[in-house]
Amino acid sequence: MLKTKKYQFWFCTGSQDLYGEECLAHVAEHSGKMVEALNASGNLPYEVVWKPTLVTDGLIRRTFNEANIDEACAGVITWMHTFSPAKSWIHGLQELRKPLLHLHTQFNREIPYDSIDMDFMNENQAAHGDREYGHIFSRLHMARKVIMGYWEEADVQKRIGDWMRTAVGVIESRHVRVMRVADNMRNVAVTEGDKVEAQIKFGWEVDAYPVNDIAASVAAVSKGDIDALVEEYYDRYEILLEGRDEKEFRDHVAVQAGIEIGFERFLEERDYHAIVTHFGDLGALKQLPGLAVQRLMEKGYGFGAEGDWKTAAMVRIMKIMSQGMKDAKGTSFMEDYTYNLIPGKEGILQSHMLEVCPSVADGQISIREQPLSMGDREDPARLVFTAKTGPAIATSLIDLGNRFRLIINEVDCKKVERPMPKLPAATAFWTPRPSLQTGAEAWILAGGAHHTAFTFDLTAEQMGDWAEAMGIEAVYIDGDTKIRQFKNELFWNSIAYR
Ligand code: MN
Repeated sequence: MLKTKKYQFWFCTGSQDLYGEECLAHVAEHSGKMVEALNASGNLPYEVVWKPTLVTDGLIRRTFNEANIDEACAGVITWMHTFSPAKSWIHGLQELRKPLLHLHTQFNREIPYDSIDMDFMNENQAAHGDREYGHIFSRLHMARKVIMGYWEEADVQKRIGDWMRTAVGVIESRHVRVMRVADNMRNVAVTEGDKVEAQIKFGWEVDAYPVNDIAASVAAVSKGDIDALVEEYYDRYEILLEGRDEKEFRDHVAVQAGIEIGFERFLEERDYHAIVTHFGDLGALKQLPGLAVQRLMEKGYGFGAEGDWKTAAMVRIMKIMSQGMKDAKGTSFMEDYTYNLIPGKEGILQSHMLEVCPSVADGQISIREQPLSMGDREDPARLVFTAKTGPAIATSLIDLGNRFRLIINEVDCKKVERPMPKLPAATAFWTPRPSLQTGAEAWILAGGAHHTAFTFDLTAEQMGDWAEAMGIEAVYIDGDTKIRQFKNELFWNSIAYR
């Protein structure tokens, strides 16, 4: 299940002793009001905690080291109300291991034309102090997020909220544990990768288990538990018999119920948060996990097919980052299948043999059982639906041998023109930005996979910020992408990331 901590973010205001006690009292009062307003805004997914004004090297260093060891602290938000000489931040910043937001704002919105004097100028000079502060990050080559704008504005607060989700993705990445039920599909390149480097860069633990260990966990599930879950399925989903025998259909659904329960117990007992399977290595399992894996993804587990542990971990992280969002539209493992190349209606039909997360479903979800046309097991039960529409992102994390690259494509999800009655799999349909032609050309030039971690609920900016915090290359394919420029970017990055 998707369980994460009640994370908090520390609000640290910078100043110095030069301005006297009265000024520092105002600085503390102002930052206190800002924290209160941010928490009351309803635009932040996590709580902001006010910290005493940071005025000396020693206090900065101590506060940041306290942030490092506080497990509830997912990041620090910093702002220089006045001038704060940035040499006093060097030691603290060098020791900080939590994500940092440099909020470039100001307590007052308007210049007080009638009353402004030098005391006011000394006290309200973020335009001055935040530049000194920003300089030291650039000098230290440190990754940080910069957000500029007035703190009472909803769009500024929402951007802070978006960054908080990224920061939680950064912190939680260090706790992701992926269970592989099989190895990589034979001969497939893009799903491979360096698991040691992934642990160094992202913190992921990726462990393999013999398929029959987990099959034994499935076999141990009681008939009572299976029957109860089958009842839940039959209540919740539409059953599409399509001429199949009712009892046989139910028996096949029961196999998936056993897999769901057995897999989840196995994952929970060993503290894994993502799983990969492989249709060619099923041991004693009677069916390829379909409906079962779809439901596990909906509960928050990451998933990758054919041994694809990188996508499984990314799906998990993106589910954590979008957790608890109002009106969330869903996050899933996805695969590029087939194109529609009719002018004006271009797009890519997305699906997988079985494993698409029902969190992205629009409307009715049905259970169907049809042959898989692959592998050697009985026809699996799957949840079938079509995805929601609207803007979304598809991401692919690839291993280039000497580094990882995250490819982020903005896409527009649409309904297909007509139903596809003979296709027994869940689907989405999208047009990549800036167009199918340029989007697909850029994706292929960048080396992107056919598997993606897909979401309606996060932005390209959030995923790019996540990649930056991980110290890896990110490339964006969006409305601004031009192939000539994109090729140059890939070439320049290949030198920069060498
Ligand atoms: Mn696949």
